[in-house]
Amino acid sequence: RHALARIERHSNLGAFLHVDTDGALDAARGADARRAAGQALGPLDGLPIAHKDIFVTQGQPTTAASKMLKGYQSPFDATIVARLHAAGMVSVGKLNCDEFAMGGATENSAYGVARNPWALDQIAGGSSGGSAVAISARLVAAATGSDTGGSIRQPAALTGVTGIKPTYGRCSRYGMIAFASSLDQAGPLARTAEDCALVLQAMSGFDERDATSAQQPVPDLAAALRTPRAGATADQPLAGLRVGVPKEFFGEGVNPDVLAATRDALEQLRKLGATLVDVSLPRTELSIPVYYIIAPAEASSNLSRFDGVKFGHRAKQYTDLADMYRKTRAEGFGPEVKRRIMIGTYVLSHGYYDAYYLQAQKLRRMIADDFQAAFKVCDVIAGPVSPTVARPIGSQTDPVADYLADIFTLPASLAGLPGMSVPAGFGDQGLPVGLQLIGNYWQEAALLHTAHAFQ
Ligand code: GLN
Repeated sequence: RHALARIERHSNLGAFLHVDTDGALDAARGADARRAAGQALGPLDGLPIAHKDIFVTQGQPTTAASKMLKGYQSPFDATIVARLHAAGMVSVGKLNCDEFAMGGATENSAYGVARNPWALDQIAGGSSGGSAVAISARLVAAATGSDTGGSIRQPAALTGVTGIKPTYGRCSRYGMIAFASSLDQAGPLARTAEDCALVLQAMSGFDERDATSAQQPVPDLAAALRTPRAGATADQPLAGLRVGVPKEFFGEGVNPDVLAATRDALEQLRKLGATLVDVSLPRTELSIPVYYIIAPAEASSNLSRFDGVKFGHRAKQYTDLADMYRKTRAEGFGPEVKRRIMIGTYVLSHGYYDAYYLQAQKLRRMIADDFQAAFKVCDVIAGPVSPTVARPIGSQTDPVADYLADIFTLPASLAGLPGMSVPAGFGDQGLPVGLQLIGNYWQEAALLHTAHAFQ
């Protein structure tokens, strides 16, 4: 009831696309009944969570913040939704995001923008903007998000909350509406690393219904967070940890306030016992053209299913089948989604495939190799999440400028590595800054442990 009241009171933030009051109260009563019956409750039992509207949910609408899926009801739950439900979490509703998770400001939602609780005229970031706002404004205890090129880490940074994108393959993509399948990963946003650990653990694990889900054992992340490192002391919990500082993440183009807050955070890590090591990720800048070829290419293919035939929007007036497809897609998709479909179709077309898509795939491999070279001399990589703090809503009319701002989140996505954002103080106009931590494959526990010591 507390969560539902706060959601109602702060509806001006634009965090929610749907609130399931009756379903939430029913589920909460279920947890109450389990407690009354003397059953042992799990750490997440009865806690309110909300899901990014990119995850399909039975009994609640799913739109991907698109007109194309207005009123759509899924006949099943996404695997991660089902797992969090099984852990006893109470799903209170669906969260706003960029249309089909394409964007970095939640301005591409067909249902209105999400506002930053720290300054209502500023963006909350995106594409998981509603998830970040719901945590930042303390509407729910935890939220799910998806991160294809930074969509968990960047909104977490801009709203002062914690979020983690796990290793590609850690969480099932079954029931997560596909944007770029080789990059899409689900993950939690919450107040702290400890909360993220509990939720991520419940979401993680092999799923036979996702062919890219990994057969990787899930460690006890909450326990790992509290387990002292070998050689650690009370003052120096991070003793022995080598933190790699990539010089390409600290160059021109990063706002001076963000740079100062990030350097302060590194100094904090050093005081906690970590050793800072200079590393290089020489292809950082190339991650922008590489991502903005690969992600639209996959999107153009994935979004071909929205044709007005099987589900979603269908144009009312048309002359023949081709006309029905054309009008349905023209009406249902917003401008950014159309732009991505056109870019993707172009880079995959005969005669351009070798020049763009194939080159991008080769560079993607090199970007992943650069990380492996860095991880030879460090355990965790640290740097900024976003080059700036939140910008004013409506202030960016050039989509390419927003693409460029993804520079520090794209490399880990292309490599499939886990990355997280931890609150690291404030920059310009008192707006939050996030510290990004990137780990090697399956090293979520190391990231969460570091973040926990830092918090
Ligand atoms: N901002 C990036 C994009 O627009 C990342 C989005 C995401 O991670 N879903 O594609």
